[in-house]
Amino acid sequence: MDRGVVSEGAGRARRLRVAIVGAGPSGAALAILLAREGAAVTLFDDGRRPELLVGESLVPAVVPILRRLELEKETASFSRVKPGVSFVWSPTDRVSVTFNRFAPAVFPYAYNVPRPHFDDALLARAIASGVDYVTARAQLSASAGASAELQLGPETVAAAPGLSGRQPDLIVDATGRARHAARALGIPARLGPRKDVAHFAHFEGFSWDEAPGQVRIARGDAGWSWCIPLQERLSIGIVLGQDDAARLGRTPEERLERAIAIDPGLTAIVGQGRRVTDVGTYANYQLISERGYGRGWAMVGDAFGFVDPMLSPGVFLALRSSEQLADALTPWLRRHAVPSPAQLHSVLTSYAARQSEMLTAWLELVAYLYDGRLAALIQAGRSWMPENPGLAKRAMSTHIARHVGLLASGAATTSRYSRGLLRFLGRYGLRGVDPAHLAIR
Ligand SMILES: Cc1cc2nc3c(=O)[nH]c(=O)nc-3n(C[C@H](O)[C@H](O)[C@H](O)COP(=O)(O)OP(=O)(O)OC[C@H]3O[C@@H](n4cnc5c(N)ncnc54)[C@H](O)[C@@H]3O)c2cc1C
Repeated sequence: MDRGVVSEGAGRARRLRVAIVGAGPSGAALAILLAREGAAVTLFDDGRRPELLVGESLVPAVVPILRRLELEKETASFSRVKPGVSFVWSPTDRVSVTFNRFAPAVFPYAYNVPRPHFDDALLARAIASGVDYVTARAQLSASAGASAELQLGPETVAAAPGLSGRQPDLIVDATGRARHAARALGIPARLGPRKDVAHFAHFEGFSWDEAPGQVRIARGDAGWSWCIPLQERLSIGIVLGQDDAARLGRTPEERLERAIAIDPGLTAIVGQGRRVTDVGTYANYQLISERGYGRGWAMVGDAFGFVDPMLSPGVFLALRSSEQLADALTPWLRRHAVPSPAQLHSVLTSYAARQSEMLTAWLELVAYLYDGRLAALIQAGRSWMPENPGLAKRAMSTHIARHVGLLASGAATTSRYSRGLLRFLGRYGLRGVDPAHLAIR
């Protein structure tokens, strides 16, 4: 290693100065974790909090992170406990999963959260942790400097007194799907295979046969739907290809209404209930950035990549990316040392490799649901299990279910063994069941 780099890094005893752009779950969580370790953190957000935000259903692996952020109790006060997920493949074929079945390997529950409220709680915790919060639409641009590839615009620096007119040591892009750094630097994204559109809204007065808080995912004639019970409301969303969506109607309201009307399961749930919000729309979201870091900057959360709403990994991936980046920087913060640009680059390189691996693993897992292999495996498993299975068959079935649970709960989505087992079963364990019949169009 270059000796100058070592002495520079070891000798600069001052606080690491970090600017985080975007105060959604990823940006706010990173701000909390870094500020706690002594970094000087400036957190920018444009202050946009629409009434409706997706990311309402969390996976169990989020709960330990909420505990670390000291936010579980508060989250519980405005959210609903989510005991599991029911997958409805057809009116006669459904599977209900409860997370406690996989405990202790998997956290036994998760939450369904009203997102704007959840984001506000995270932001308030960041401010209470000593973060310098600035309400401003931050500007980023390419920098010609040797140590930094990205810089904050002059108005952005001026808007943050905590920066004292200087660029920070590290800029973190947490702008979500806006992908501000990627746009400033022209970094392309690897797109996923689906080009879906989602429409969703909140309902009251609905009827609910599932366990309280249980999320319902149902395959439709085209695409799929979600029902996420919140404390007083039910979030209903439809996810389908752009052409199929256009066939349902012209406006998002018409499409959601029509999708509910033609789906007997959704019609029964909505019953006499009524929509109490506008209809929110999201489109074209499966993407992973080709590069998630560079000299003096990194991406976290959706800015780095977003997989798919299926299985609800988004907020977990956002929080986990921030946890990984904070943990990678913590040894420096604890020594009150600022890494040299080269040392920072090596920290960011390993962080980005881990986050890319995580995103790729989730994308692979989600594909099993869309192409029907997971449903086919469940059907094959049922036909393989007699009514009174022997010890060996029962143990085998528990083993397989546990590993699928580990993958889908976020507890071990990158586990080589669990992924290998699923790949093996997807290839050799279908026992003649054709996944194409169970695929989501
Ligand atoms: C249809 C759909 C359904 C989903 N459902 C779920 C689900 O059920 N469960 C789940 O876990 N995830 C879900 N997600 C994903 C989830 O919403 C995201 O993964 C999550 O919000 C990512 O958090 P983030 O902090 O990275 O970004 P965001 O939540 O997008 O936050 C980005 C923040 O940056 C701010 N910002 C943007 N540009 C600037 C700027 N220039 N200056 C200052 N501030 C800026 C924004 O205002 C915002 O506050 C879903 C996604 C989609 C598309």
